[in-house]
Amino acid sequence: MVRWSRSFSAKGGSATGGSFFKEPKGSIPKLHMLKFYNTLLRKKQIFKSLHKGEVRMYNCGPTVYDFAHIGNFRAYIMADTIRRYLEYKGYKVKQVMNITDVGHLTRYDVKAAKDKIIEAAKKEKKTPKEIARFYEKAFLEDTDKLNIKRAYKYPRPTEHLQDIIKLIQVLIKKDYAYEAKGTVFYDITRFKNYGKLSGNPLEALKAGARLEPHPDKRHPYDFFLWLKAPKEHLMKWPSPWGIGYPGWHIECSVMSMKYLGPTLDIHTGGEDNIFPHHENEIAQSEAYTNKKFVRYWIHCRHLLVEGKKMSKSLGNFYTLRDLEKKKYDPIDFRFLTLLSHYRSHMDFSEKALVQVSEGLERIREFLNKLKVKSQKLKAKAVKPVVKKLIEKTKKNFEKSMDNDLDTPKALASIFDLVKQGNKLLDKGKINKAEAKALHKLLMDFDKALGVIKAKKIAKISKAKEVKILGLIKERERARKAKDWKKADQIRNKLRKIGVEVKDTDKGPVWKVKS
Ligand code: AMP
Ligand code: ZN
Repeated sequence: MVRWSRSFSAKGGSATGGSFFKEPKGSIPKLHMLKFYNTLLRKKQIFKSLHKGEVRMYNCGPTVYDFAHIGNFRAYIMADTIRRYLEYKGYKVKQVMNITDVGHLTRYDVKAAKDKIIEAAKKEKKTPKEIARFYEKAFLEDTDKLNIKRAYKYPRPTEHLQDIIKLIQVLIKKDYAYEAKGTVFYDITRFKNYGKLSGNPLEALKAGARLEPHPDKRHPYDFFLWLKAPKEHLMKWPSPWGIGYPGWHIECSVMSMKYLGPTLDIHTGGEDNIFPHHENEIAQSEAYTNKKFVRYWIHCRHLLVEGKKMSKSLGNFYTLRDLEKKKYDPIDFRFLTLLSHYRSHMDFSEKALVQVSEGLERIREFLNKLKVKSQKLKAKAVKPVVKKLIEKTKKNFEKSMDNDLDTPKALASIFDLVKQGNKLLDKGKINKAEAKALHKLLMDFDKALGVIKAKKIAKISKAKEVKILGLIKERERARKAKDWKKADQIRNKLRKIGVEVKDTDKGPVWKVKS
């Protein structure tokens, strides 16, 4: 839900509905300590890293068979904002995100061994590796456009096959896994706490999103660690169980622990990852190490379109490139995601994107005014009224961010600051030191948010285009009514926002002055 408007709502979005996100009454912990909602505990929990000053975070990354859609990017923007805020608070963050380049099969695809990447390779007449590398590159380009910081590592399962095989061997040895006709399954009945993350105890399991049917399974929810490859299968490797390829869940256990150690501080994903993917990651990793795998499980709710989850299978998706073609700025999309709490559903629409773009522009305009003023004004000490405003805003911003990353509320405090700051500016009551202090405050906040300073990618935003077209239409109406004074006034208005209009035989044409 987009909740930005001219009078910005200061209420934080609440996560409602859905058993994963239910919060017991009376669980709001003390303010001003960083807390995250831990899916495992179903409540907010004060955050403490395992290693002093360092946070180890793993994010389930993309399967690179196509361009990621903006629903996927909601999950990655959330992970990036967690990282940025931890850095704002002084932590060093070691972040790893997998790039799935083999083995992501849907339950419908297992029988036919329809790996998404192989299918894309056949369709595009390329090799699976060409497909995977092409879409990996596109994914990283998109994350750059969204001002998502690069992770410490982006490991690929195809480059970790020996690690995967070794872990599976240990699981077989410990009797958590069994082999049948060249395929290896995880035996979920052996893992005592199976279901602890999703609240799906063994006896209550119903058909899930990635339940994979197979005649050799002992329990319907046993899952693949290694699959026997049919002869014609394009991506396959030798193993102690014959030629095959790894299942999807195993890569995340193997690669997260390889680069971050047996116990991670934070593991993220979208809510659809909770079951079975993350449940299975816990079963694999904890059976292997006998240690706690993840201390804080953080999941974002889905991005919806007209009430339905944005997904490839429903066909109701936009890629970032689709938005760019329509002249939307990727940073406006990042800003839009921050305006809903990550545990609330977020309904996406192009209209919302236009609206928020104006809001972001307001903050940037305020910053520009501060910059211009600070060059002209004399240096004087910061007055108590401005000092108070700065302190209050910083306190509110941090209080909101500390409270399970309440970005809508944190942004509301920024909008309040802009409103009050503009009033002081208009009255000429800001001196050079104050302008600098206010500028620095916003720049500090932006380290955590990544939207204000970010380079604008679109030459002209959709919101600005709508505004320009509106003014041009209004000017045309004035000209038709021979109201030349009004027409000139509108032309001047357009000039002020950097647009030049020319009247031609075919009607007015306009261009943005460079
Ligand atoms: P996938 O490539 O399907 O494994 O998805 C990559 C990431 O995007 C996972 O963390 C998913 O949970 C997440 N994701 C997929 N669809 C959405 C959506 N509509 N809204 C938010 N996150 C999503
Ligand atoms: Zn994963």
